[in-house]
Amino acid sequence: MTLDAWGDFKVDDYEHVFKEFGLSKFNYYDLTEHYLFKRKIIIAERDFDKIAKAIKNKTKFLQMTGIASSGDLHFGHKLNVDFFLLFKKLGAKSKFCISDIDAYISRDDKKMSSLEQSKENAVKNIADLIALGISPKDIYVQSNKEKEYYTFSYEISKKITRNMFEAIYGHVDLGKVGAVFLQLADILHVQLPFMFGKAPTITGIGLDQDPHARLTRDVSRKVNYDLITPSFFYFQHQSGLKEGKKMSKSEPDTAIFLNDTEKDVKKKINKSFTGGRDTVEEQKQKGGNPDICKVYEMFKFHQPDNNFLETTHDECKKGKLLCGECKQNCIKFLNEFLAQHKKKYEKALPLAKKIVNE
Ligand code: SF4
Repeated sequence: MTLDAWGDFKVDDYEHVFKEFGLSKFNYYDLTEHYLFKRKIIIAERDFDKIAKAIKNKTKFLQMTGIASSGDLHFGHKLNVDFFLLFKKLGAKSKFCISDIDAYISRDDKKMSSLEQSKENAVKNIADLIALGISPKDIYVQSNKEKEYYTFSYEISKKITRNMFEAIYGHVDLGKVGAVFLQLADILHVQLPFMFGKAPTITGIGLDQDPHARLTRDVSRKVNYDLITPSFFYFQHQSGLKEGKKMSKSEPDTAIFLNDTEKDVKKKINKSFTGGRDTVEEQKQKGGNPDICKVYEMFKFHQPDNNFLETTHDECKKGKLLCGECKQNCIKFLNEFLAQHKKKYEKALPLAKKIVNE
């Protein structure tokens, strides 16, 4: 079995993937009271014990994550940012990478025709990240990195053979090979002396990104640098608003984007897949099924109020809450969030431009 790190698929059979790739089930939910831990959004890990120890003992640890600047950000990306903010709060020295080179070289020309296009996306993405609460000091753009970073990425390229690449990814596409060298450099370089220095490092990813994690860990043991093999946690992807779909930049109706209008949000939530019954009467009698519902899922991933979430689940199951009202709650929640977000985004834009063009 090969996971496609660039594909647009949903992992349905977690148990199978855990077994096949030797992941450990996540078992550190008591580490913090944060809603993302309470709701068990993290499902698996590699070497998380080093991070748990560092958090408990308040010793140095690092976190490194990032996104490719391949388009507008949606609520699936917000989840990644929420985890980043949480680990920063737990004490991690942190860096968030905007992978503009990766976004350009690993996508075909129809999706990304120039590095300039990728940099334009990077400006918008950075303004979104700042608006979501990430400190500008924690953000860097791949194409602006220093000489030491690129020297390090060449060293990494020396340790990856064609066979290793093919065994992990199932192909050798040159654009993607180049992008992988940089991704590995991103995750590992934070431990170099010119950055934070050697320390346990955590990166949060979706299960489909595990090929990168395995290769990064493998290479960290082979390069001629003093590094601690990085740890990873794996979070559930928020699924798309339509049945059986992943949130996708290429299918706008599957996701709520951070630049969606009030009208877009209303339309998308009203059309989303729910766990409701065919008729109001039936739903009042038998109750709905929040566990398959995309509206409930939106609350589960993004509404921090635990009481609200529990009440929604409970009342849905008892048939006391109907989908019409529940969707209105969701539309209101998202539009209030986005109204605030847009103000912060506009304020952050000049700084985002400066970061990309520095
Ligand atoms: Fe989903 Fe809400 Fe309908 Fe329940 S009431 S099925 S949570 S939309």
